Amino acid sequence: ATPTALMVGTGRSARMGILIKNGEVLEAVNDVKTVIFDKTGTITVGKPQVTDVIGNSDKVLSIAASLEQSSEHPLATAILKKAKEAGLEMTPSQNFKAIEGKGVQADVDGESAFVGNDKLLTDMKVSDSLKAKMTTLQHQAKTVVFVGQGDQIIGLIAIQDAPKPTSEDAISALKSKGLKTVMLTGDNQAVSQAIADQVGIDQVVADVLPGDKADQVKKFQQSGKVAFVGDGINDAPALSTADVGIAMGSGTDIAIESGGIVLVKNDLRDVYKALELSKKTFNRIK
Ligand code: ADP
Ligand code: MG
Repeated sequence: ATPTALMVGTGRSARMGILIKNGEVLEAVNDVKTVIFDKTGTITVGKPQVTDVIGNSDKVLSIAASLEQSSEHPLATAILKKAKEAGLEMTPSQNFKAIEGKGVQADVDGESAFVGNDKLLTDMKVSDSLKAKMTTLQHQAKTVVFVGQGDQIIGLIAIQDAPKPTSEDAISALKSKGLKTVMLTGDNQAVSQAIADQVGIDQVVADVLPGDKADQVKKFQQSGKVAFVGDGINDAPALSTADVGIAMGSGTDIAIESGGIVLVKNDLRDVYKALELSKKTFNRIK
């Protein structure tokens, strides 16, 4: 009877767009205490838009876009889109380098330039007025990147990635079952907290380098089983480390391969459904 119940259970969930790839997942679900979410593309829509440019906006945007032409980061896509809309010219860049969790660097017009967060500004002095502008934008849930040329900061670009309309309901359903919800992200603390507040997430772990996401999952595993929900290339190790890895169907191939459960409809509310269905199926076959 055991395999039949499993087939019936997983067949029903598959029709709902919830693919359960193995029995191990079903077994772990009963004991899940914490659900950890990636931010970009999982809690948020994943299509960031440029909202503010501080400084000489044409110059700031065209230098930033010249650099970001070589990057595939969602922030790069947003900056390129805005520069194109403004009809700005882009200069080819040389010696492009992506610095994980920080930003990008290259030579533009024979001068070194960069776009990225404050971790990239090793020795540069940020004026108090620029710091104040940055803080204000971050509290509006906007990610702020600095644009620099030579040894000067020439401006700021603020980029907003709105939460998915379903994220708040998805989180509150999990919390109603007594589960702890956590957001894990490489983005800055202030921005991440502002987004977490919008959707009701219990705890934020920000400024996490892509290679450290799996270690963060292990920390939470000290207080019970963990489900991790993500979509990106850099989420794959966390998805495999978690007791229950849940990948968004819209995610990268490697994320989908690493998840024990795949949400085909990309509806975050299906995290709750997937956990409930798995529990029912497991308790039937036990
Ligand atoms: P997430 O977990 O949100 O996907 P990432 O680790 O990809 O975060 O990026 C973390 C931070 O590094 C970004 O919020 C940004 O400040 C900076 N960053 C990374 N790549 C770029 C880029 N191409 N251009 C500008 N900033 C970048
Ligand atoms: Mg992501």
